[in-house]
Amino acid sequence: MKTIPTLLILLTALAGHAQESIKWPQHKKAAIVLTYDDALVSQLNVAVPQLEAAHLKATFFLTGDIDPATIPRWRKLGKRGFELANHTIFHPCLSTDDNPVHSENYTPYSMIREIEVMNHFLYAVDGKTNRTYAYPCTETTAGGKDYVDSLRKFNQIKYARGGGDASDFITDFKRLDPMLVPSFGVEDNTTGAQLIAFVKKVQQAGGMGVLMIHGIGGDYITISAKAHQEMLDYISKNKNELWVPTFQQAMDYIKQANKPFGPVGRVTAKAERLNPIKPKTPPAKAQKTTGV
Ligand SMILES: [Zn+2]
Repeated sequence: MKTIPTLLILLTALAGHAQESIKWPQHKKAAIVLTYDDALVSQLNVAVPQLEAAHLKATFFLTGDIDPATIPRWRKLGKRGFELANHTIFHPCLSTDDNPVHSENYTPYSMIREIEVMNHFLYAVDGKTNRTYAYPCTETTAGGKDYVDSLRKFNQIKYARGGGDASDFITDFKRLDPMLVPSFGVEDNTTGAQLIAFVKKVQQAGGMGVLMIHGIGGDYITISAKAHQEMLDYISKNKNELWVPTFQQAMDYIKQANKPFGPVGRVTAKAERLNPIKPKTPPAKAQKTTGV
C-alpha cells in the first residue's frame, strides 16, 4: 500500500513538470489581461476612468460599427498606452435575432478581407500597424468553415483571443495557440466577488487570465460599475504579484519566453539539458586535463 501514495506523488510531479509554466516580468506571480469588446460607450465613460485612476492598461477590441463621435476618445486612449485592437467591421456571427450580420454569408476569404480593412481603419485611428484580434461572438467559422488557419497565414494579425468561461485561464504556455487564446467571457451581472475569485485562481496558479468584458454600468452583457471597481481594487492591492499588460504585450512576452533561448529562465534549463555535466574549470584547462 505504501507504493500507491509514492506513485501518486510521482505522477503528480510528472504532470506538473509536463505543464510549461512561465516566469513573469518583475518577479510577478501571474498575468491578468483586461479586454473590452464592441467599442461600447460605457467602456469609455465608466471603465476607462476607473482604469486610469488605478494606473492600469487594457485592450479594446473595436468594430467599425462605432459611434464616430467617440473616435477622438479612442484615439486618445491609444496615445496613453491602451491597445486598440481588431474585432472586424460588422461583427459577423451565426444567425440570431439580435445579430444583423450573419457569418453564414461569409467565406474565410471575405472574413479575412474584412479584418484587413479593419486594420486600415485602426491605423487611421492610432497610427499603429501591429494588431491583435478577437473573434466576434467567439466563433471561429465563416460560411461554416473554420478560418483560424487562414488568419494565421494572413500575417496581419499577431494574436487572436477566443472565448471560454471562468475555468479558462492559461497555465501551459508551450501549448498555447497564439491564434486561439482562451478568455473568461464575463456574463451579465457578474459580481465583484466572482471577478476577484477568477483573478485569485489565476494568481494562485501563476498563469495568465484574460477577461472579456462588454458593458460596465450600461450597454449590454453588463456588470455594475461597482463590480468592475472592486476587481480593479483587488488588482491594485496585489500589484506586487499581478502583471496587467495589454493583450499584445502579454502575448509578445509569452512568444519571447517560448523561444528556446528566451529571456525568462529557459536558458538555464536548456543549457543544462544540452550540457548535463557543467565543467567547473575554465574551458582551456578542461581541454588540457581531458587531452582533447
Ligand atoms: Zn463582440
